[in-house]
Amino acid sequence: MSTIAAIATPIGVGALSVIRISGPQAHAVLKAATGRDVSLAPRVATLVHVRAANGETLDECMATCFCAPASYTGEDVAELTCHGGMLVTQRVLERLFACGARPAEPGEFSRRAFENGKIDLTAAEAVMDIINAGSDLALRAAQSQLSGSISRPVQAAIDSLLTLAAHVEAYIDFPEEDISPQTLSEMQTSLRSVEESLTRLAATADSGRLLREGVRTAIVGAPNVGKSSLLNRLLGYDRAIVSPVPGTTRDTVEESISLGGMLLRLIDTAGLRNSADSVEQAGVERTHRTLQSADLVLEVQDATAPLDELPDHVPDHVPHLVLLNKCDLPEHASHRNQSGIRISALTGVGIPELHRAITSLIAPQSGEYDTNVAINTRHLHALRTALSSLHAAATGLAQQALPELVAIDLRAALDALGAITGKVDTEDLLSRIFSTFCLGK
Ligand code: GDP
Repeated sequence: MSTIAAIATPIGVGALSVIRISGPQAHAVLKAATGRDVSLAPRVATLVHVRAANGETLDECMATCFCAPASYTGEDVAELTCHGGMLVTQRVLERLFACGARPAEPGEFSRRAFENGKIDLTAAEAVMDIINAGSDLALRAAQSQLSGSISRPVQAAIDSLLTLAAHVEAYIDFPEEDISPQTLSEMQTSLRSVEESLTRLAATADSGRLLREGVRTAIVGAPNVGKSSLLNRLLGYDRAIVSPVPGTTRDTVEESISLGGMLLRLIDTAGLRNSADSVEQAGVERTHRTLQSADLVLEVQDATAPLDELPDHVPDHVPHLVLLNKCDLPEHASHRNQSGIRISALTGVGIPELHRAITSLIAPQSGEYDTNVAINTRHLHALRTALSSLHAAATGLAQQALPELVAIDLRAALDALGAITGKVDTEDLLSRIFSTFCLGK
Protein backbone atom coordinates (compact mmCIF):
# COMPACT_ATOMS: atom_id res chain seq x y z
CA MET A 1 0.00 0.00 0.00
CA SER A 2 1.43 3.37 -0.98
CA THR A 3 1.73 6.36 1.31
CA ILE A 4 -0.26 9.37 0.15
CA ALA A 5 -0.07 13.07 0.95
CA ALA A 6 -2.21 16.09 0.11
CA ILE A 7 -3.08 19.55 1.33
CA ALA A 8 -6.30 19.14 3.34
CA THR A 9 -7.20 22.84 3.60
CA PRO A 10 -8.37 25.08 0.72
CA ILE A 11 -5.71 26.33 -1.65
CA GLY A 12 -5.12 30.03 -1.02
CA VAL A 13 -3.62 32.38 1.49
CA GLY A 14 -4.62 31.74 5.11
CA ALA A 15 -3.10 31.70 8.57
CA LEU A 16 -2.48 27.95 8.51
CA SER A 17 -2.78 25.03 6.17
CA VAL A 18 -2.81 21.33 6.92
CA ILE A 19 -1.07 18.58 4.99
CA ARG A 20 -2.15 15.05 5.64
CA ILE A 21 -0.01 11.97 5.07
CA SER A 22 -1.44 8.44 5.29
CA GLY A 23 0.02 5.00 4.71
CA PRO A 24 2.55 2.57 6.13
CA GLN A 25 5.43 4.99 5.52
CA ALA A 26 3.63 8.10 6.85
CA HIS A 27 5.79 8.44 9.94
CA ALA A 28 8.98 7.55 8.06
CA VAL A 29 8.23 10.20 5.42
CA LEU A 30 7.69 12.78 8.16
CA LYS A 31 10.92 11.82 9.87
CA ALA A 32 12.85 11.99 6.59
CA ALA A 33 11.41 15.42 5.78
CA THR A 34 12.07 16.81 9.25
CA GLY A 35 15.34 15.06 9.91
CA ARG A 36 14.03 13.88 13.28
CA ASP A 37 15.21 10.49 14.31
CA VAL A 38 13.28 10.43 17.59
CA SER A 39 9.80 9.03 17.36
CA LEU A 40 6.95 11.54 17.57
CA ALA A 41 4.52 10.69 20.38
CA PRO A 42 1.11 9.79 18.91
CA ARG A 43 -1.60 12.44 19.16
CA VAL A 44 0.78 15.07 20.55
CA ALA A 45 1.42 18.21 18.52
CA THR A 46 5.19 18.62 18.17
CA LEU A 47 7.15 21.50 16.71
CA VAL A 48 9.20 20.36 13.71
CA HIS A 49 11.18 21.95 10.89
CA VAL A 50 10.57 20.57 7.43
CA ARG A 51 13.90 20.78 5.61
CA ALA A 52 14.96 20.61 1.99
CA ALA A 53 17.54 18.00 0.97
CA ASN A 54 20.33 20.57 1.55
CA GLY A 55 19.17 21.15 5.13
CA GLU A 56 17.56 24.54 4.45
CA THR A 57 14.36 25.07 6.49
CA LEU A 58 11.25 25.10 4.29
CA ASP A 59 8.80 25.78 7.12
CA GLU A 60 8.36 25.50 10.85
CA CYS A 61 5.28 23.32 11.41
CA MET A 62 3.34 21.45 14.05
CA ALA A 63 3.28 17.70 13.42
CA THR A 64 0.78 15.25 14.88
CA CYS A 65 1.08 11.51 14.36
CA PHE A 66 -1.67 8.92 14.61
CA CYS A 67 -0.91 5.20 14.73
CA ALA A 68 -2.89 2.57 12.80
CA PRO A 69 -5.66 1.65 13.31
CA ALA A 70 -6.53 4.64 15.53
CA SER A 71 -6.64 7.24 12.76
CA TYR A 72 -9.13 8.61 10.23
CA THR A 73 -7.93 6.28 7.49
CA GLY A 74 -7.12 3.36 9.79
CA GLU A 75 -3.48 3.63 8.62
CA ASP A 76 -0.49 5.41 10.13
CA VAL A 77 -1.22 9.11 9.62
CA ALA A 78 0.77 12.29 10.10
CA GLU A 79 -0.68 15.78 9.92
CA LEU A 80 1.48 18.81 9.39
CA THR A 81 0.13 22.26 10.18
CA CYS A 82 2.17 24.71 8.11
CA HIS A 83 2.07 28.45 7.58
CA GLY A 84 -0.79 29.13 5.21
CA GLY A 85 0.94 30.65 2.17
CA MET A 86 0.42 28.80 -1.09
CA LEU A 87 4.10 28.64 -1.94
CA VAL A 88 5.30 27.44 1.44
CA THR A 89 2.64 24.70 1.68
CA GLN A 90 3.40 23.54 -1.85
CA ARG A 91 7.14 23.35 -1.07
CA VAL A 92 6.52 21.30 2.08
CA LEU A 93 4.24 18.97 0.11
CA GLU A 94 6.84 18.51 -2.62
CA ARG A 95 9.43 17.68 0.02
CA LEU A 96 7.10 14.96 1.37
CA PHE A 97 6.80 13.56 -2.16
CA ALA A 98 10.60 13.54 -2.45
CA CYS A 99 10.71 11.61 0.84
CA GLY A 100 8.47 8.81 -0.43
CA ALA A 101 4.82 9.90 -0.37
CA ARG A 102 2.76 10.19 -3.55
CA PRO A 103 -0.01 12.69 -4.35
CA ALA A 104 -3.38 11.52 -3.02
CA GLU A 105 -6.27 11.27 -5.43
CA PRO A 106 -9.53 13.08 -4.65
CA GLY A 107 -11.34 11.28 -1.85
CA GLU A 108 -8.49 8.81 -1.37
CA PHE A 109 -8.21 9.39 2.40
CA SER A 110 -11.91 8.65 2.88
CA ARG A 111 -11.68 5.72 0.46
CA ARG A 112 -8.94 4.23 2.61
CA ALA A 113 -11.04 4.87 5.73
CA PHE A 114 -13.87 2.93 4.07
CA GLU A 115 -11.61 0.10 2.89
CA ASN A 116 -10.16 -0.24 6.37
CA GLY A 117 -13.64 -0.47 7.89
CA LYS A 118 -13.36 2.86 9.73
CA ILE A 119 -16.50 4.28 8.08
CA ASP A 120 -19.22 2.85 5.88
CA LEU A 121 -20.23 4.36 2.56
CA THR A 122 -23.01 6.49 4.06
CA ALA A 123 -20.50 7.97 6.50
CA ALA A 124 -18.02 8.63 3.67
CA GLU A 125 -20.77 10.45 1.77
CA ALA A 126 -21.70 12.31 4.95
CA VAL A 127 -18.15 13.66 5.18
CA MET A 128 -18.62 15.26 1.75
CA ASP A 129 -22.09 16.48 2.70
CA ILE A 130 -20.70 18.16 5.83
CA ILE A 131 -18.12 19.93 3.71
CA ASN A 132 -20.72 21.03 1.14
CA ALA A 133 -23.57 21.83 3.55
CA GLY A 134 -25.14 25.16 2.65
CA SER A 135 -27.61 25.45 5.54
CA ASP A 136 -27.99 24.51 9.20
CA LEU A 137 -30.42 21.68 8.49
CA ALA A 138 -28.22 20.25 5.72
CA LEU A 139 -25.31 20.26 8.15
CA ARG A 140 -27.38 18.60 10.88
CA ALA A 141 -28.58 15.92 8.47
CA ALA A 142 -25.02 15.28 7.28
CA GLN A 143 -23.74 15.05 10.85
CA SER A 144 -26.45 12.61 11.86
CA GLN A 145 -25.74 10.60 8.71
CA LEU A 146 -22.10 10.47 9.77
CA SER A 147 -23.19 9.09 13.12
CA GLY A 148 -25.31 6.39 11.47
CA SER A 149 -28.83 7.76 10.94
CA ILE A 150 -29.02 6.03 7.55
CA SER A 151 -26.79 3.04 8.09
CA ARG A 152 -28.62 2.05 11.31
CA PRO A 153 -32.06 1.41 9.75
CA VAL A 154 -30.40 -0.11 6.67
CA GLN A 155 -28.32 -2.44 8.84
CA ALA A 156 -31.42 -3.39 10.85
CA ALA A 157 -33.16 -4.30 7.57
CA ILE A 158 -30.12 -6.29 6.45
CA ASP A 159 -30.12 -8.20 9.75
CA SER A 160 -33.81 -9.11 9.45
CA LEU A 161 -33.40 -10.14 5.82
CA LEU A 162 -30.35 -12.27 6.59
CA THR A 163 -32.34 -14.17 9.21
CA LEU A 164 -35.20 -14.54 6.75
CA ALA A 165 -32.85 -15.67 3.98
CA ALA A 166 -31.28 -18.17 6.38
CA HIS A 167 -34.72 -19.69 7.03
CA VAL A 168 -35.51 -19.86 3.33
CA GLU A 169 -32.13 -21.36 2.47
CA ALA A 170 -32.69 -24.02 5.12
CA TYR A 171 -35.79 -25.18 3.24
CA ILE A 172 -33.70 -25.45 0.08
CA ASP A 173 -31.40 -27.82 1.93
CA PHE A 174 -34.32 -29.87 3.26
CA PRO A 175 -36.74 -30.05 0.34
CA GLU A 176 -38.81 -32.77 2.03
CA GLU A 177 -39.96 -30.24 4.64
CA ASP A 178 -42.74 -27.81 3.75
CA ILE A 179 -42.80 -24.35 5.26
CA SER A 180 -45.38 -24.57 8.06
CA PRO A 181 -48.24 -22.03 7.95
CA GLN A 182 -47.01 -20.48 11.19
CA THR A 183 -43.43 -20.06 9.94
CA LEU A 184 -44.76 -18.69 6.68
CA SER A 185 -46.86 -16.07 8.42
CA GLU A 186 -43.91 -15.08 10.64
CA MET A 187 -41.74 -14.69 7.57
CA GLN A 188 -44.38 -12.57 5.87
CA THR A 189 -44.73 -10.34 8.92
CA SER A 190 -41.01 -9.81 9.13
CA LEU A 191 -40.77 -9.10 5.39
CA ARG A 192 -43.61 -6.56 5.64
CA SER A 193 -41.97 -4.75 8.51
CA VAL A 194 -38.70 -4.46 6.55
CA GLU A 195 -40.62 -3.18 3.54
CA GLU A 196 -42.36 -0.57 5.68
CA SER A 197 -39.16 0.62 7.26
CA LEU A 198 -37.39 0.94 3.89
CA THR A 199 -40.39 2.73 2.38
CA ARG A 200 -40.24 5.29 5.20
CA LEU A 201 -36.54 5.75 4.62
CA ALA A 202 -37.11 6.19 0.87
CA ALA A 203 -39.66 8.90 1.67
CA THR A 204 -36.88 11.09 3.05
CA ALA A 205 -35.37 11.43 -0.45
CA ASP A 206 -37.29 14.62 -1.21
CA SER A 207 -36.13 16.44 1.87
CA GLY A 208 -32.65 15.01 1.21
CA ARG A 209 -32.55 16.66 -2.19
CA LEU A 210 -33.91 19.93 -0.83
CA LEU A 211 -31.33 19.93 1.97
CA ARG A 212 -28.40 19.14 -0.29
CA GLU A 213 -29.33 21.22 -3.31
CA GLY A 214 -31.49 23.91 -1.75
CA VAL A 215 -35.15 24.74 -2.40
CA ARG A 216 -35.55 26.04 -5.96
CA THR A 217 -37.80 29.02 -5.33
CA ALA A 218 -39.16 30.74 -8.44
CA ILE A 219 -40.37 34.32 -8.12
CA VAL A 220 -42.92 34.82 -10.89
CA GLY A 221 -45.48 37.36 -11.92
CA ALA A 222 -46.30 39.94 -14.56
CA PRO A 223 -43.68 42.55 -15.42
CA ASN A 224 -43.27 45.42 -12.97
CA VAL A 225 -45.11 43.84 -10.03
CA GLY A 226 -41.92 43.94 -7.92
CA LYS A 227 -40.24 40.54 -8.41
CA SER A 228 -36.70 41.94 -8.54
CA SER A 229 -37.46 44.21 -5.59
CA LEU A 230 -38.63 41.16 -3.61
CA LEU A 231 -35.48 39.23 -4.50
CA ASN A 232 -33.35 42.14 -3.31
CA ARG A 233 -35.44 42.47 -0.14
CA LEU A 234 -35.09 38.76 0.69
CA LEU A 235 -31.36 38.84 -0.03
CA GLY A 236 -30.86 41.97 2.02
CA TYR A 237 -28.90 43.70 -0.74
CA ASP A 238 -29.42 44.90 -4.31
CA ARG A 239 -28.68 42.04 -6.65
CA ALA A 240 -31.33 42.38 -9.36
CA ILE A 241 -31.97 45.52 -11.36
CA VAL A 242 -35.14 47.25 -10.22
CA SER A 243 -36.64 49.42 -12.90
CA PRO A 244 -39.98 51.08 -13.52
CA VAL A 245 -39.70 49.92 -17.15
CA PRO A 246 -41.65 46.67 -17.55
CA GLY A 247 -39.70 43.71 -18.96
CA THR A 248 -36.30 44.64 -17.50
CA THR A 249 -35.54 41.20 -16.06
CA ARG A 250 -35.19 39.18 -19.22
CA ASP A 251 -32.73 36.75 -17.81
CA THR A 252 -33.12 34.60 -14.74
CA VAL A 253 -31.16 35.79 -11.74
CA GLU A 254 -30.36 33.22 -9.06
CA GLU A 255 -29.10 33.80 -5.52
CA SER A 256 -29.20 31.77 -2.32
CA ILE A 257 -30.31 32.67 1.18
CA SER A 258 -30.66 30.61 4.33
CA LEU A 259 -34.15 30.61 5.79
CA GLY A 260 -35.42 28.55 8.72
CA GLY A 261 -32.22 26.49 8.49
CA MET A 262 -32.86 25.62 4.83
CA LEU A 263 -31.04 26.87 1.77
CA LEU A 264 -33.38 28.77 -0.55
CA ARG A 265 -32.26 29.21 -4.14
CA LEU A 266 -34.21 32.27 -5.20
CA ILE A 267 -34.76 32.57 -8.91
CA ASP A 268 -36.01 35.92 -10.20
CA THR A 269 -37.69 35.16 -13.48
CA ALA A 270 -38.55 37.25 -16.50
CA GLY A 271 -42.07 38.65 -16.19
CA LEU A 272 -44.81 36.45 -17.57
CA ARG A 273 -46.68 38.24 -20.31
CA ASN A 274 -47.28 37.89 -23.99
CA SER A 275 -44.72 39.90 -25.86
CA ALA A 276 -43.72 40.38 -29.46
CA ASP A 277 -40.15 41.12 -28.41
CA SER A 278 -38.16 37.95 -29.17
CA VAL A 279 -35.64 38.49 -26.35
CA GLU A 280 -38.48 38.91 -23.88
CA GLN A 281 -40.27 35.88 -25.32
CA ALA A 282 -37.17 33.76 -24.76
CA GLY A 283 -37.15 34.98 -21.14
CA VAL A 284 -40.79 33.97 -20.71
CA GLU A 285 -40.07 30.51 -22.08
CA ARG A 286 -37.21 30.17 -19.62
CA THR A 287 -39.58 31.16 -16.84
CA HIS A 288 -41.93 28.33 -17.83
CA ARG A 289 -39.06 25.85 -17.69
CA THR A 290 -37.97 27.18 -14.28
CA LEU A 291 -41.52 26.68 -13.03
CA GLN A 292 -41.51 23.05 -14.10
CA SER A 293 -38.51 22.26 -11.92
CA ALA A 294 -39.33 24.61 -9.01
CA ASP A 295 -39.85 23.35 -5.46
CA LEU A 296 -41.67 26.49 -4.39
CA VAL A 297 -43.29 29.33 -6.33
CA LEU A 298 -43.73 32.87 -5.04
CA GLU A 299 -46.30 34.47 -7.28
CA VAL A 300 -46.09 38.24 -7.00
CA GLN A 301 -49.00 40.50 -7.89
CA ASP A 302 -49.26 44.28 -7.85
CA ALA A 303 -51.89 45.11 -5.24
CA THR A 304 -52.27 48.65 -6.62
CA ALA A 305 -53.18 47.46 -10.12
CA PRO A 306 -56.40 45.76 -11.22
CA LEU A 307 -56.43 42.04 -10.48
CA ASP A 308 -54.75 40.42 -13.42
CA GLU A 309 -55.31 36.67 -13.55
CA LEU A 310 -52.21 35.04 -14.95
CA PRO A 311 -52.76 31.95 -17.06
CA ASP A 312 -52.58 28.81 -14.92
CA HIS A 313 -48.86 28.27 -15.13
CA VAL A 314 -47.80 26.84 -11.76
CA PRO A 315 -47.66 23.03 -11.87
CA ASP A 316 -50.12 21.49 -9.40
CA HIS A 317 -47.50 19.58 -7.40
CA VAL A 318 -45.47 22.71 -6.57
CA PRO A 319 -46.23 24.56 -3.30
CA HIS A 320 -47.24 28.06 -4.15
CA LEU A 321 -47.70 31.37 -2.26
CA VAL A 322 -49.54 34.40 -3.63
CA LEU A 323 -47.97 37.71 -2.59
CA LEU A 324 -49.79 41.00 -2.96
CA ASN A 325 -46.97 43.49 -3.30
CA LYS A 326 -46.84 47.28 -2.92
CA CYS A 327 -49.15 47.20 0.11
CA ASP A 328 -47.51 50.47 1.22
CA LEU A 329 -49.78 52.09 -1.40
CA PRO A 330 -53.60 52.03 -1.48
CA GLU A 331 -54.88 48.65 -2.60
CA HIS A 332 -56.91 48.39 -5.78
CA ALA A 333 -60.52 47.42 -5.01
CA SER A 334 -60.33 44.29 -7.16
CA HIS A 335 -57.97 42.65 -4.60
CA ARG A 336 -60.30 43.20 -1.64
CA ASN A 337 -61.38 39.60 -1.23
CA GLN A 338 -58.21 38.06 -2.52
CA SER A 339 -56.26 35.88 -0.16
CA GLY A 340 -52.50 36.12 -0.16
CA ILE A 341 -49.73 37.61 1.90
CA ARG A 342 -49.69 41.40 1.75
CA ILE A 343 -46.13 42.65 1.48
CA SER A 344 -44.15 45.65 0.45
CA ALA A 345 -40.82 44.81 -1.14
CA LEU A 346 -40.05 48.51 -0.87
CA THR A 347 -40.59 48.99 2.88
CA GLY A 348 -40.27 45.41 4.15
CA VAL A 349 -43.82 45.21 5.52
CA GLY A 350 -45.11 41.62 5.55
CA ILE A 351 -41.66 40.09 4.95
CA PRO A 352 -41.47 38.37 8.39
CA GLU A 353 -44.88 36.82 7.67
CA LEU A 354 -43.60 35.68 4.28
CA HIS A 355 -40.55 34.11 5.96
CA ARG A 356 -42.84 32.18 8.31
CA ALA A 357 -45.09 31.01 5.49
CA ILE A 358 -42.11 29.80 3.44
CA THR A 359 -40.57 28.03 6.42
CA SER A 360 -43.76 26.16 7.23
CA LEU A 361 -44.13 25.07 3.60
CA ILE A 362 -40.61 23.75 3.16
CA ALA A 363 -39.73 22.45 6.61
CA PRO A 364 -38.94 18.73 6.40
CA GLN A 365 -41.91 16.72 7.66
CA SER A 366 -41.15 14.60 10.67
CA GLY A 367 -42.13 10.98 10.45
CA GLU A 368 -40.91 7.96 12.30
CA TYR A 369 -37.35 8.83 11.33
CA ASP A 370 -36.17 12.09 12.76
CA THR A 371 -36.14 15.03 10.40
CA ASN A 372 -32.35 14.89 10.18
CA VAL A 373 -32.52 11.75 8.08
CA ALA A 374 -32.25 12.64 4.44
CA ILE A 375 -31.12 10.05 1.94
CA ASN A 376 -29.42 10.91 -1.35
CA THR A 377 -30.27 9.72 -4.86
CA ARG A 378 -27.81 6.83 -4.69
CA HIS A 379 -29.50 5.57 -1.53
CA LEU A 380 -32.93 6.06 -3.12
CA HIS A 381 -31.96 4.05 -6.18
CA ALA A 382 -30.66 1.21 -4.00
CA LEU A 383 -33.76 1.33 -1.77
CA ARG A 384 -36.06 1.13 -4.79
CA THR A 385 -34.17 -1.87 -6.12
CA ALA A 386 -34.34 -3.52 -2.71
CA LEU A 387 -38.06 -2.78 -2.37
CA SER A 388 -38.89 -4.22 -5.76
CA SER A 389 -36.95 -7.42 -4.92
CA LEU A 390 -38.71 -7.61 -1.55
CA HIS A 391 -42.04 -7.23 -3.29
CA ALA A 392 -41.11 -10.15 -5.55
CA ALA A 393 -40.00 -12.19 -2.51
CA ALA A 394 -43.29 -11.45 -0.73
CA THR A 395 -45.27 -12.49 -3.80
CA GLY A 396 -43.17 -15.66 -4.04
CA LEU A 397 -43.85 -16.52 -0.40
CA ALA A 398 -47.57 -15.87 -0.77
CA GLN A 399 -47.74 -18.09 -3.84
CA GLN A 400 -45.62 -20.78 -2.19
CA ALA A 401 -42.96 -20.47 -4.90
CA LEU A 402 -39.85 -22.63 -4.71
CA PRO A 403 -37.65 -21.45 -1.82
CA GLU A 404 -34.77 -21.14 -4.33
CA LEU A 405 -36.67 -18.37 -6.12
CA VAL A 406 -37.57 -16.52 -2.94
CA ALA A 407 -33.94 -16.80 -1.85
CA ILE A 408 -32.79 -15.18 -5.10
CA ASP A 409 -35.08 -12.19 -4.51
CA LEU A 410 -33.96 -11.84 -0.91
CA ARG A 411 -30.32 -11.97 -1.96
CA ALA A 412 -30.97 -9.28 -4.60
CA ALA A 413 -32.57 -7.08 -1.92
CA LEU A 414 -29.62 -7.72 0.41
CA ASP A 415 -27.15 -6.83 -2.33
CA ALA A 416 -28.98 -3.57 -3.01
CA LEU A 417 -29.04 -2.67 0.69
CA GLY A 418 -25.42 -3.72 1.09
CA ALA A 419 -24.53 -1.27 -1.64
CA ILE A 420 -25.86 1.56 0.55
CA THR A 421 -23.45 0.91 3.39
CA GLY A 422 -20.86 -0.87 1.26
CA LYS A 423 -21.10 -3.99 3.40
CA VAL A 424 -22.76 -7.43 3.03
CA ASP A 425 -21.26 -10.50 1.54
CA THR A 426 -22.03 -14.14 1.28
CA GLU A 427 -19.90 -14.83 4.32
CA ASP A 428 -22.44 -12.90 6.42
CA LEU A 429 -25.24 -15.11 5.17
CA LEU A 430 -23.26 -18.30 5.70
CA SER A 431 -22.28 -17.45 9.22
CA ARG A 432 -25.88 -16.51 9.97
CA ILE A 433 -27.13 -19.86 8.70
CA PHE A 434 -24.68 -21.82 10.79
CA SER A 435 -25.08 -19.76 13.92
CA THR A 436 -28.87 -19.61 14.07
CA PHE A 437 -29.76 -23.11 12.87
CA CYS A 438 -29.32 -26.49 14.30
CA LEU A 439 -29.18 -28.26 10.96
CA GLY A 440 -28.56 -31.70 12.47
CA LYS A 441 -32.05 -31.96 13.95
P1 GDP B 1 -40.30 43.35 -11.66
O1 GDP B 1 -40.36 43.77 -13.08
O2 GDP B 1 -41.50 42.51 -11.29
O3 GDP B 1 -39.00 42.67 -11.29
O4 GDP B 1 -40.45 44.67 -10.79
P2 GDP B 1 -39.33 45.58 -10.12
O5 GDP B 1 -38.83 44.95 -8.86
O6 GDP B 1 -38.33 45.98 -11.14
O7 GDP B 1 -40.22 46.81 -9.67
C1 GDP B 1 -40.98 47.57 -10.58
C2 GDP B 1 -41.28 48.93 -9.98
O8 GDP B 1 -42.13 48.76 -8.84
C3 GDP B 1 -40.06 49.66 -9.49
O9 GDP B 1 -40.20 51.04 -9.78
C4 GDP B 1 -40.06 49.44 -7.98
O10 GDP B 1 -39.44 50.46 -7.27
C5 GDP B 1 -41.55 49.39 -7.70
N1 GDP B 1 -41.86 48.59 -6.52
C6 GDP B 1 -41.49 47.29 -6.28
N2 GDP B 1 -41.96 46.87 -5.10
C7 GDP B 1 -42.65 47.92 -4.54
C8 GDP B 1 -43.37 48.10 -3.32
O11 GDP B 1 -43.49 47.23 -2.46
N3 GDP B 1 -43.95 49.31 -3.13
C9 GDP B 1 -43.86 50.32 -4.06
N4 GDP B 1 -44.46 51.46 -3.77
N5 GDP B 1 -43.18 50.18 -5.20
C10 GDP B 1 -42.58 49.01 -5.46
